[in-house]
Amino acid sequence: MAKTQKYVYFFGGKKAEGKADMKALLGGKGANLAEMVNIGLPVPAGFTITTEVCTYYYKNNHKYPKELKAQVLNALKKVEKEMGAVFGDPKNPLLVSVRSGARASMPGMMDTILNLGLNDVTVQGLIEKTNNPRFAYDSYRRFVQMYGDVVLGLKPKDKHEHDPFEVIIENKKHSKGVKLDTELTADDLKELVQEFKTAIKEKTGHDFPDDPMEQLWGAIGAVFGSWMNERAIVYRKLNNIPEWWGTAVNVQSMVFGNMGEDSGTGVAFTRDPATGENVFYGEYLFNAQGEDVVAGIRTPHPISELAKENPALYKQLDNIRKILEKHYKDMMDIEFTIQQGKLWMLQCRVGKRTGFAAIKMAVDMVKERLISKEEAILRIEPNQLNQLLRPIFDSEEKKKAVESGRLIAKGLNAGPGAASGKVALSAQDAEEMAKNGDKVILVRIETSPEDIKGMNAAEGILTARGGMTSHAALVARQMGKVCVAGCGALKINYADRSISVEGRDDVYIKEGDYISIDGSTGEVILGKLETKPSEVIQVLITKTLDPKDSPTFQTYNSLMNWADSIRRLKVRTNADQPDQASNAIAFGAEGIGLCRTEHMFFGENRIMSVRKMIVADTVEERKAALSELLPLQREDFEGIFRVMKGYPVTIRTLDPPLHEFLPHTEKEINELAQALGISYQTLKAKIDSLHEFNPMLGFRGCRLGVLYPEITEMQARAIIEAAINVMNEGVKVKPEIMIPLVGHVNEFKLQEDIVRRVADEVMKEKGKKIDYLVGTMIELPRAAVTADEIATRAEFFSFGTNDLTQTTFGLSRDDAGKFLPLYVQQEILPADPFETIDQQGVGKLVEMGTKLGRSSRPNLKVGICGEHGGEPASVEFCHRTGLDYVSCSPFRVPIARLAAARAVLNERTTKTTKSKVAAKPKAKSAGKTKAKAKKKSTK
Ligand code: ADP
Ligand code: MG
Ligand code: MG
Repeated sequence: MAKTQKYVYFFGGKKAEGKADMKALLGGKGANLAEMVNIGLPVPAGFTITTEVCTYYYKNNHKYPKELKAQVLNALKKVEKEMGAVFGDPKNPLLVSVRSGARASMPGMMDTILNLGLNDVTVQGLIEKTNNPRFAYDSYRRFVQMYGDVVLGLKPKDKHEHDPFEVIIENKKHSKGVKLDTELTADDLKELVQEFKTAIKEKTGHDFPDDPMEQLWGAIGAVFGSWMNERAIVYRKLNNIPEWWGTAVNVQSMVFGNMGEDSGTGVAFTRDPATGENVFYGEYLFNAQGEDVVAGIRTPHPISELAKENPALYKQLDNIRKILEKHYKDMMDIEFTIQQGKLWMLQCRVGKRTGFAAIKMAVDMVKERLISKEEAILRIEPNQLNQLLRPIFDSEEKKKAVESGRLIAKGLNAGPGAASGKVALSAQDAEEMAKNGDKVILVRIETSPEDIKGMNAAEGILTARGGMTSHAALVARQMGKVCVAGCGALKINYADRSISVEGRDDVYIKEGDYISIDGSTGEVILGKLETKPSEVIQVLITKTLDPKDSPTFQTYNSLMNWADSIRRLKVRTNADQPDQASNAIAFGAEGIGLCRTEHMFFGENRIMSVRKMIVADTVEERKAALSELLPLQREDFEGIFRVMKGYPVTIRTLDPPLHEFLPHTEKEINELAQALGISYQTLKAKIDSLHEFNPMLGFRGCRLGVLYPEITEMQARAIIEAAINVMNEGVKVKPEIMIPLVGHVNEFKLQEDIVRRVADEVMKEKGKKIDYLVGTMIELPRAAVTADEIATRAEFFSFGTNDLTQTTFGLSRDDAGKFLPLYVQQEILPADPFETIDQQGVGKLVEMGTKLGRSSRPNLKVGICGEHGGEPASVEFCHRTGLDYVSCSPFRVPIARLAAARAVLNERTTKTTKSKVAAKPKAKSAGKTKAKAKKKSTK
């Protein structure tokens, strides 16, 4: 005879049939209840009906496997024996709870039924047993209410409907002339039970089931049924929980926290989930059942008070806390109940935590030798580091502001951190206000390169339009500014210098009014909120805090050191200015991967020369303008080489379309015409002639230098002269000159020839030799496809994945706002390809480009300098693809370091599971599900 399948797992006493790693079968709750039994903790006995029954139930038209009934009855017998009470017994009744429990925790999504097994007969037994009629009838009425709501479907569908039972309770209180539930007597409660039952009969046409066994199967069915309720379905969608996982059902003997002042119930975390502090953190209530704590009817006490009120009990609980942490090697979230002085554990799971706490706990646990440093690194999502780096609002103040209706809009959380200041509606205003000592939030419909100085002067940037990789977001991250982008509710009126907010007629903001933005959440708050720089920033950047005085910094530092000892990928930064570069070094950058020369062109004393250069009619005129720029560019590069102290610095030659540098308003055009000594008409005609239908694909990148070689000449000269000058100061230099937007090797050759010729000239003039590289950006599909040809000349590649994404998809990032969000929402694309690299498409080009490039130049240095360089999933991709480095904005450098270390560790685990799979083909699906479950539970 074939062995019958096991659908029911008993737990209780000293040994459970399940254990923690059986979450797929027993659900998280059931597996952990079993595990707690196995490690000797006091758990009320019970049994778990497996998730396979749930799957069976839905496959077979709401029927159970035929073996189930006998297995349930058998397990129930064991529970009765363990607890010394009998289900349905009139004298000594066993009561149970029926609890759902999916593989991943789905808080509040499915319902629990308590005190099951009560009827008019067994309630008498309970009264005799406890000598407490009020308690017995309170349990009874709670049971009928919950059963009516959950199993019989009387629960209101939305908040506008009343719960029929609450209405009856209100009426009862009214007629008895009392205010609180607790003032109702045993007899009142007894009457309530009958009234509840009458209501049930009226609404459903059926009698309330008095038979405990019928109650039990009804409740089990309701839990399985709740797997498909709308709330649960929506929650699963949002959290990527597959439907086929199903839920388990736990039937567990009741323990009572509401049996008097020596009873109680509580929830706790083994460490503080907000700060990560190694302190017992939680709340409890005496003389209460679990739901009272959650419902907020009475205010619970902090766990620390229990130490004073009942030291013996506290000691027991604290001991359990230690056992759990030692066993699970993680912070646990627990539920417990005390029945007449005896402690019972009802639940435990790995606790949710803030990013801040995640980091602190992981690092502390390594130091406590609970986990390895590899494990610590795997436990922290790189983006959680933001919580250690960004300025922060005082949490109490923010809460108050939100509660008083000052939260006026929400945009994209484009640049994390908190900023508060006066509204400036133009870059110029922002600069002026900042000069006067004001903190400023620059608010624009969108930003453009001309706004850079205003953005730099501002604490934070808020835009009405644009996505996570809009100009505002990109520049803000590079500068380390707080940024909320694409806040569509804002109606910005430049003409009368004001902002109104859609849907908020009560709000009208004038330039100069205070506003606060939270770039970690996208929230826009009216008025001023205090902020402070994080401790890590105070140590590394403002240098106002001694590392010895900051435990937070030490935590950060340990983690970063571990990450560095594991990662293979180098991390560079995108920086154009010495201060940005030195910030990046403080964050651990190992070079500059992208220095955009054009960002320097907007400086006050430069833009005029730049404009002269652009509108020049002859080569002589252009050279004259360029010679004005030469010393300025040289100075910029000297500054950067000095801070970078021998780290490689990749400088890109001029890239953007020229019209970006030209004036637009009549007034500005007039001024420029005067300065150039030409007529307004001539200049206007010149500007118009530079107009392009599609500037992104127009006269830009290396095409500028091909048509105007003198631009590349000037820039090459500035770089090499600066390098030699700084070298003469005794500082090492490593310039890497990068040619943008190359599509054909011949374009590269032309530019490379210029660079090498000028470099030779300068070295001869100066009588010094330096090492430098000439390489290219790969940002056109053609470049990736012909990378082998390009690499015969280029000494390095840097994938410009922003443009490569635009050119691969054939879409302009700046115009994608109309449809890209919809694409992501409707899952036409799995993610915004400008946020995380499109591994299947753009990524394939990166892979191909790298392979082809190295086929003709094996030691070709390859990196990436798009915004993706600081995005964890993209960093992992770069690691797997064998790149040498990623380059990202300074404030993302720590994130990239951590992501690079995780890439190594994740690669190791996939390798080991792969080799296991190869050895034992049967283990395949089990291994997979385990990895998935783990991912979920750490979420
Ligand atoms: P959720 O998954 O929503 O947390 P639970 O199954 O944990 O739901 O049940 C909610 C609460 O009901 C628990 O926190 C606990 O206080 C109470 N409870 C559940 N089972 C029992 C039991 N056997 N004895 C006493 N209280 C229980
Ligand atoms: Mg619970
Ligand atoms: Mg580009």
